[in-house]
Amino acid sequence: MNLKNIIKPTRKKLFLLVGLFIITGVFLLGSGKENILIQSSRVVADTAMVKKHLTALTQTPQFRNHKNIDQLNAVADYIHQTFNTYGDSTSYQEYEVDGKVYKNVITSFGTENTKRIIIGAHYDVCGDQQGADDNATGVTALLELARMLKGQKLNYRVDLVAYTLEEPPYFRTENMGSYVHAKYLKDNNIDV
Ligand SMILES: [Zn+2]
Repeated sequence: MNLKNIIKPTRKKLFLLVGLFIITGVFLLGSGKENILIQSSRVVADTAMVKKHLTALTQTPQFRNHKNIDQLNAVADYIHQTFNTYGDSTSYQEYEVDGKVYKNVITSFGTENTKRIIIGAHYDVCGDQQGADDNATGVTALLELARMLKGQKLNYRVDLVAYTLEEPPYFRTENMGSYVHAKYLKDNNIDV
């Protein structure tokens, strides 16, 4: 592959992201006793899938902030649909804030294991912007990781969680999706 052909200036960020995926993929999926996976097949990120997810998450009719609940729900549905294609089990964790229902989206792999690894990223944005860096890239990583984890033999259960309401006005409050999810894990004495 000729790298000069694929690293155009506007694609640098995408390329860096893909590079991160590949490094992560090798780290997660390589052989060795310390790795979380015990199978031998090597899976790498697919640039076409990365672009597809980033586009779907950022090129939305409305901005995916807390005010646009329909848009947030549409994005949550997209994440759920993708998770559901690959995960052992996929669900919403719903909760109410100021009369509106917000949703974390969760999918699990290696559910035969008791000990659990949580990997999360938030899918809402701060105000009126597309939020590619903050944080469509993180959510895209979750979606592509889901594809890469499918069918792998795992030493741990892995839960991928797309959080809602990370951004203001809920930042650092008990209404954050990550807070709600972490509280659920703690209240149920789940071994993370
Ligand atoms: Zn953020």
